Amino acid sequence: MNEKQGQLSKMIASLSADESLATYQMALDDQRLDLNPLIGQKIQLSFLGAINCQNCNRLIKKSYSGGFCFPCAQKLAQCDLCIMKPETCHYDAGTCREPEWGEQFCMQDHIVYLANSAAVKVGITRHTQVPTRWIDQGATQALPIFRVKTRYQSGLVEVMFKAHVSDRTDWRKMLKGQHDAPIDLAAKRDQLMAECADEIAALQQRFGGGTITPLPNETIVEINYPVQQYPDKVTSLNFDKTPNISGTLQGIKGQYLILDIGVLNIRKFSAYQINLGF
Ligand SMILES: [Zn+2]
Repeated sequence: MNEKQGQLSKMIASLSADESLATYQMALDDQRLDLNPLIGQKIQLSFLGAINCQNCNRLIKKSYSGGFCFPCAQKLAQCDLCIMKPETCHYDAGTCREPEWGEQFCMQDHIVYLANSAAVKVGITRHTQVPTRWIDQGATQALPIFRVKTRYQSGLVEVMFKAHVSDRTDWRKMLKGQHDAPIDLAAKRDQLMAECADEIAALQQRFGGGTITPLPNETIVEINYPVQQYPDKVTSLNFDKTPNISGTLQGIKGQYLILDIGVLNIRKFSAYQINLGF
């Protein structure tokens, strides 16, 4: 058996141009390992008992905000609540935890999109994170519907649509795979645009021309996942409870490894030191 060891980060996902297939790499320190070829094989993941904060590298017992020590989770802008709820951006109030980080990551073009991840949902992402964000969510289809100038504005547009369409992914359904019937996202977009026409106009007026731009002519991005077999019942695996996880890799979807013994959310265990046997 081959082995690789290091600090886990979220899987690196990309979309192959020819077959629209999500391809994944495991990131251990700065090592990268192609995971798609391991599907169908037995793998072994072992938590080595150490977690290091992804920002300050200190050894921690418990990870916060997906891979940070408690003080870093309290001080980094990327761990602030406004990242999850961009409509609560407080940069203009002068209270951004790290204004320079905010300027770099939040004050740039964002995309508002519709996606099919077991059901239709609305979401937002930095324009540079397309299509990574969609793959991370396990979406099988996605359609950009607005380009806006800041993360804050994307949050306002999302909130407006939330009254009409979910902003959540049911990850258990997403992992069962059988609810992925294609959705006519373009028709859904047109319906939402019509339902929210007055509110969209009000936002455009508030922020000025060219800030909140509808994208009426985008094409739907289709994403296929490397999955041989979806689980009937979704059982979560957890390094804190089960440090040694061994099973056959049946597929990868979103940030989940699908094993014959359960599913493992790799992103949740960012910063954990692990050994991978394959
Ligand atoms: Zn730290």
